[in-house]
Amino acid sequence: MEFTFYVQGSAAEPYELTFNANDGFAASCSCPAGENRMLCKHILSLLEGDFSNVTIGEPADLSIAYELFSKSEVKSHYDEWQKYVVELATLQKMTADNKRKLARILLGR
Ligand SMILES: [Zn+2]
Repeated sequence: MEFTFYVQGSAAEPYELTFNANDGFAASCSCPAGENRMLCKHILSLLEGDFSNVTIGEPADLSIAYELFSKSEVKSHYDEWQKYVVELATLQKMTADNKRKLARILLGR
C-alpha cells in the first residue's frame, strides 16, 4: 500500500510526501531535505498526526498509514528516538535551572 499527500511547505508548490507500506515501512518527501534523504519536518509532522498543512490527501489514508507504521519495525526506532528527545528536553531544563542556581551563588544575586 502506498499513500501520497501533498504538503504545503515554504515553497510555492506543495511537496509530495509518500508513505510506502509494501515492504516494511518507508517514507519520502520532495522537499530539499527529503531529496537529500534527510528526515524532514513534513514526514515527522504527518507521523505525529498533524494534517494542518496537507493540501491534497485523505485523513483516513493517514490513519491507515499510521496504523501500518505502528505495526512496522520502524516504529520501535521512532519510539526510541522520541524517548531521547524527551530525555534531552529534561536535561536541557536541568542544565538551565542549574546554571541559574550557579549564577545566583557565584554572582551573589
Ligand atoms: Zn519534507
